[in-house]
Amino acid sequence: MRKTGRNLLLAAICTLAALFPCSLGARNSNASPEAQAQKKESKKSTIRTEPLFGEKLKKVEVKSDKLKGACFYLVSGHGGPDPGAVNRYNGHELHEDEYAYDVTLRLARRLMEEGAEVRIIIQDKNDGIRNATYLKNSKGETCMGTAIPLNHQARLRQRTNKINALYAKDKNRFKYIRAIFIHVDSRSTGTNIDVHFYHAKNSKNGKKTATAIRDMFAAKYRKHNPKRGYNGTVSVHPKGLYVVNYTHPASVLIELANIRNNRDLKRIILEDNRQAMANWMSEAFIKDYQGKK
Ligand SMILES: [Zn+2]
Repeated sequence: MRKTGRNLLLAAICTLAALFPCSLGARNSNASPEAQAQKKESKKSTIRTEPLFGEKLKKVEVKSDKLKGACFYLVSGHGGPDPGAVNRYNGHELHEDEYAYDVTLRLARRLMEEGAEVRIIIQDKNDGIRNATYLKNSKGETCMGTAIPLNHQARLRQRTNKINALYAKDKNRFKYIRAIFIHVDSRSTGTNIDVHFYHAKNSKNGKKTATAIRDMFAAKYRKHNPKRGYNGTVSVHPKGLYVVNYTHPASVLIELANIRNNRDLKRIILEDNRQAMANWMSEAFIKDYQGKK
């Protein structure tokens, strides 16, 4: 257990919100459509469209080319008939797959803004990026349009095969490709866990990318809440993780929190925290990618 209290965490959250304003805000101005178009042209910005982000956020302005040449397969854990870890909190049933999906979409959007190519493997065409604290549960997720099977092995094989098929085509087109799996863990109620990372046993790149994200989280916590401490680990899962072991590109599996721990929960149920985690991850990817070029 950690010594710092919930107040400190909440204070940090506020700081984070201030420091990492999500790009979700209004960007409409009163200028005429022509003037806006001209302004856009002069800035040479590119607008890309991803309907999965939802009506308000589907248009993505590519603001930099920091991740140009990088490609990401983003995979939120579980989905379809499988909600993943479940916890009841404040009269709500919280499902792992919904929270993992929301963070995944936020990360996807940030990466696109930095010029990356992003393939969202698990999709829900009804849920965009959502601001609510309690995300509505659904079984509508698919593996890029294909129904997700209930059987555990079949489910993992399906997404792994999907990634490997994409990778076969992408590997000659991109300098840097990563598969990122996002989950929320389920441990005993009293266990506080920091965001932590798994990579495949012999994957040098997987380990390097995982370490880059871990170090970014450590730096952010040190800066915004030095008393908090951060114990996120980078390791090979003792039981092995199918998706991490069998996907061909270098991969990292991220556990965001323990869904049964009330303090940990704040990290995923508060919208600003979901956005901050996505921002930190994308910043870490930029660092990892730029170090490679
Ligand atoms: Zn999971």
